[in-house]
Amino acid sequence: MKITSIDTILLRTPYECGGPKPNFGGRVWDRAETLLVKVQTDAGVTGWGEAFGYNVAPTTKTAIDTVLAPLYVGSDARNIEGLMREMQMRLNYQGRNGSVIYGMSGIDIALWDIAGKIAQQPLHRMFGGSGRSHITAYSSLMRYTDPTIVAKNTVASIERGFQYVKLHEIDEPQVRAAREAGGPHFGLMVDTNCPWSLGEALAMARRMSPYNLYWLEEPCWPPENFEALAAVRAKSGVTVAAGENAGSVMDFKHMFQAGAVDVAQPSVTKIGGITEMRKVIALAEAFNVRVVPHSPYFGPGLLATLQLLSAAPQMPLVEWLYFDLEQTLYGDAIAPRNGQIAVPQGPGLGLDPDAKVIERYRVG
Ligand SMILES: [Mg+2]
Repeated sequence: MKITSIDTILLRTPYECGGPKPNFGGRVWDRAETLLVKVQTDAGVTGWGEAFGYNVAPTTKTAIDTVLAPLYVGSDARNIEGLMREMQMRLNYQGRNGSVIYGMSGIDIALWDIAGKIAQQPLHRMFGGSGRSHITAYSSLMRYTDPTIVAKNTVASIERGFQYVKLHEIDEPQVRAAREAGGPHFGLMVDTNCPWSLGEALAMARRMSPYNLYWLEEPCWPPENFEALAAVRAKSGVTVAAGENAGSVMDFKHMFQAGAVDVAQPSVTKIGGITEMRKVIALAEAFNVRVVPHSPYFGPGLLATLQLLSAAPQMPLVEWLYFDLEQTLYGDAIAPRNGQIAVPQGPGLGLDPDAKVIERYRVG
């Protein structure tokens, strides 16, 4: 079964997030962006993947269109593990992290979708999973800065049934506002996106300690400063989460060896797709580290995460970005209900995207 074509489709969808639109990577993030990867085969089976887009969507799209697609087309679509290894080796000089690996991730997800469709099994069954039908989700809020808006959206998330709420704030008043508004019984996480030196991170961990954080995410710059994360863990006692900026399973090996994290957060559209993600999950189990993937996605990246978590050995928790999209690729099939997301039971990723929604929001 040969790969006959690989196409990229960028979607930009209007959304509401309970406050002003965030600034991300130097521009206002006024649309939710999804970079779809469509892989077709000579067996007539089509797979859908997603490569990390956001503000790097143009470079990831270019990497797939100009570098990766010509290399993959003609290959055996069943040779998923082999292709991941081969392409990592052939393209090693392009960097072991970033848009080329993101592009490989999208293609890998699509190839697994094809494998599941050929086998007529959802991926969690192929991975030997228990077939969890629902995964507990946490509400992942934008950075609003205004404590009043943080409090409002924390309460709104709890009222929607979420038992866990994650902020993207970097100061203490916003964290206090969330805890005071939401009460003592919900899991409160704070994702800071790598702003601080070790000294600053320790000071902030101390300031936030009264609010009983479920975890503190990426407190130190740069993301691969694993010794600093280990020191934050050891000296403050806070639960530390990180991993969305890792480029391969080797990065996680170094992270775990440094004792940097309690919670590993591989991102399926960035790390090397489902193939590399399964290696990270196995490695984390060996190091007694919990895996809670990074998954602020609305397309195949979220479906792949759900399929992996349905089969994962540990208690799963999935990130749900607190966005209401104008229209979604899957209707309300994976909309959270009472803080739970249903795992799609169709073959492969479990669902195919709605062609009408693609046509409506595609760019170009
Ligand atoms: Mg994060």
